[in-house]
Amino acid sequence: MLRAGAVPMIDYHMHTPLCHHATGSPAEYLEVARQKGIGEIGFADHYPLGLLGVQQHSPVTMSPGELSGYINEIRALAADEKEITVRLGIEVDYIPGKEETLAELLPREPFDYIIGSIHFMGDWDFTHPRHAALYNSSDLGQIYSRYFELLWQACSSGLFDIMGHIDVVKKFGHRLPDEAMEFYWQRTASILKKNDLCFELNTAGRAAPAAEFYPGRRLLELCSRKEVPVTLGSDAHGPEQVGRYFDDALALLHDVGYRELAVFSRRQRNFIPLEREK
Ligand code: ZN
Ligand code: FE
Ligand code: FE
Ligand code: ZN
Repeated sequence: MLRAGAVPMIDYHMHTPLCHHATGSPAEYLEVARQKGIGEIGFADHYPLGLLGVQQHSPVTMSPGELSGYINEIRALAADEKEITVRLGIEVDYIPGKEETLAELLPREPFDYIIGSIHFMGDWDFTHPRHAALYNSSDLGQIYSRYFELLWQACSSGLFDIMGHIDVVKKFGHRLPDEAMEFYWQRTASILKKNDLCFELNTAGRAAPAAEFYPGRRLLELCSRKEVPVTLGSDAHGPEQVGRYFDDALALLHDVGYRELAVFSRRQRNFIPLEREK
């Protein structure tokens, strides 16, 4: 069994029902974290696309009017909780052209950290099962190239603390050969490093057709070699998913050379040790 040293384990990526595709109250996520011995958690629900002027056909984020309620609910939970540290995070869609709006809006809120994620290529919500068929009717090489260009732009935007599920384009199991991926993996690790960014080991990918964490082992290895800071999240969309696959995730992190995990408070990064239990 692996634990994060003196400081207990963290789960930095949990959702709430405000995004319309998650279940369970934040208090229920907290209780599962307690049962699993997780000492620090962070909610990172989807930032309102409405604040970016993006119309949603079917909503996948909270509405603009719900943001303050989300912030208040998580802060109240944090204030009432004595054992577990509760952080206020947010998962923000990177959409080209919206950088200035986000640069103005995001610092107004008391977030502990901001996860930047790519869920859209133009109108295409490519991580949504309902829209996955498009992978088959388009050129996969072009999809990958477009995805990684967006990711690298997002990394260079200066808007985010943590990059979310950095190879999520593999979610439904559509893959390029490793020889073709090597370029994307190398460049992603370099760009994360250059921008002094953290990324997450997101365990949700194992339950998707990809059947593998985001990112997979090779990209994780390259990031470790370059000493790109890593944090850990389940991307739970239900309380039962909190801390999912974390034993394997910690073993993998250790295996590729990581010895610490990044944690955040009011957008300041710190580290806790990742050690094998004696
Ligand atoms: Zn979601
Ligand atoms: Fe996401
Ligand atoms: Fe998420
Ligand atoms: Zn997600």
